[in-house]
Amino acid sequence: MRQKLVAGNWKMHGNSQSIRELLAALTPAVAESAAEIAVIPPLVYVPLCVDLLAGSKVSVGAQTVSEQCDPGAYTGEVSAEMLADSGCHYVLVGHSERRSLYGENDALVAAKTEAALNAKVLPIVCVGETREQREAGDTLKVVGRQLDVVLATLKSGHEKITVAYEPVWAIGTGLTATPEQAQEVHAFIRTQLAAHSAELADTVRILYGGSVKAANAAELFAQPDIDGGLVGGASLDAEEFAAICNAIG
Ligand code: PEP
Repeated sequence: MRQKLVAGNWKMHGNSQSIRELLAALTPAVAESAAEIAVIPPLVYVPLCVDLLAGSKVSVGAQTVSEQCDPGAYTGEVSAEMLADSGCHYVLVGHSERRSLYGENDALVAAKTEAALNAKVLPIVCVGETREQREAGDTLKVVGRQLDVVLATLKSGHEKITVAYEPVWAIGTGLTATPEQAQEVHAFIRTQLAAHSAELADTVRILYGGSVKAANAAELFAQPDIDGGLVGGASLDAEEFAAICNAIG
């Protein structure tokens, strides 16, 4: 049985005051949630979140990581070892904003996934198609290629990844994939994992992301291959994010 996960990606939002307020409201509101819960703040606020969340059921993640494993002259980069040392449990890799704004390609995403696993930080591997790719009927081809590169690159630890299916056209747009559209892609991803091994298909969680909110969460999370959500905008509002976490049955 896969434990459902809801992770809130705060992107480049927040400050120490707003984070204190958000987490003070969030932790009691999700104490009884059936989901595992994580918040993914901007990197500089990871230590603050780790401190504030000590003893709660909410863990902390990072939004990106270096593909470099050894310390060295990589100005601006942060290694997976450093994330682990700072209390990060998860890290996003391949978020569509990293792919489109910072030129991260499939090979780099795979290298970052490997680096995270080496340091025992659990990678959440984001995949998803653009609107043009969906309209061209290429959704499964694109998502399949993005995930294949990661699965083929990893030497071990495949079962420790989480996949997040995030249609790019649904991120931050208010447009959500219908539960049927999302389930179709999640089922495809599950089949792709099964081609690797039946155990992998059984173990790996597949999250849906793209304008998840309290009003649509329960219907999305009820789909058989949706194991939780990666939530952007709505995770900045404690009440809304708690309602999403509590929509996990
Ligand atoms: C995201 O950034 O991963 C995301 C899904 O954003 P939003 O929920 O705002 O669409």
